[in-house]
Amino acid sequence: MEADVNCARCKKTVCGTGHYMEGPDDCPTKIKARVIEKAVKEYENPEIKEFARQASIQEFENYMSMPEGLMSRNPRVEEVIQFAKKMGYRKLGVAFCIGLKEEARLFTEILENRGFQVVSVCCKAGGIPKERIGVREDQKIAYTFNRPDQWEAMCSPISQAEILNDSKVDFNVLVGLCVGHDSLFFKYAKAPVTVLIAKDRVFGHNPAAALYQSRAYYRRLIRKEPFEKKTPTSSQ
Ligand code: SF4
Repeated sequence: MEADVNCARCKKTVCGTGHYMEGPDDCPTKIKARVIEKAVKEYENPEIKEFARQASIQEFENYMSMPEGLMSRNPRVEEVIQFAKKMGYRKLGVAFCIGLKEEARLFTEILENRGFQVVSVCCKAGGIPKERIGVREDQKIAYTFNRPDQWEAMCSPISQAEILNDSKVDFNVLVGLCVGHDSLFFKYAKAPVTVLIAKDRVFGHNPAAALYQSRAYYRRLIRKEPFEKKTPTSSQ
């Protein structure tokens, strides 16, 4: 059996150059050629090809050459707008976390000011109690605040996706959905999805900050520990 690839540990990273065949022995360009060839065939679908082409152009347009060197041009909010316009998307879905309601409101206003039709849905839409998915009293957020027996709505990313499917949006944008909730949204949404905000409650929704701090104040992130599988039936 072929080895698993591990690009993140590669010391050559020649794949972005004309010397792409000179990677390490476990380079996917060498050992996953058949998989790559099959994947690349997907771009023969004209719709996919156009999506990929516009995404590449979006990437290209973000750089500008200045006397001081290469500079970046656009914040992500602007990029989402530019890409949606490139693709001719008019009706956008915004799936947001209740904790980022203000961010969703601002983003919606920006989109509407640029001429988009926006359908936005909060994660708690439907008001379904957490008990519906088997969450116990001591696993509710209110429990942490010493308020046992408080009614608490579950986040329902599947409802968010289905509401936006029902509204026939052209494109979805996620605003701060939790880890795992976002996964379900990706799984159930029919239109393509991009992420505006990846939730990080500690680092102001900038998850990369934890990585940058993992050699400094957040060294505990890089510690080694034995892998323990957590099962759904455990106390967790
Ligand atoms: S594709 Fe090959 S060269 Fe590129 S990062 Fe992965 S292992 Fe390295």
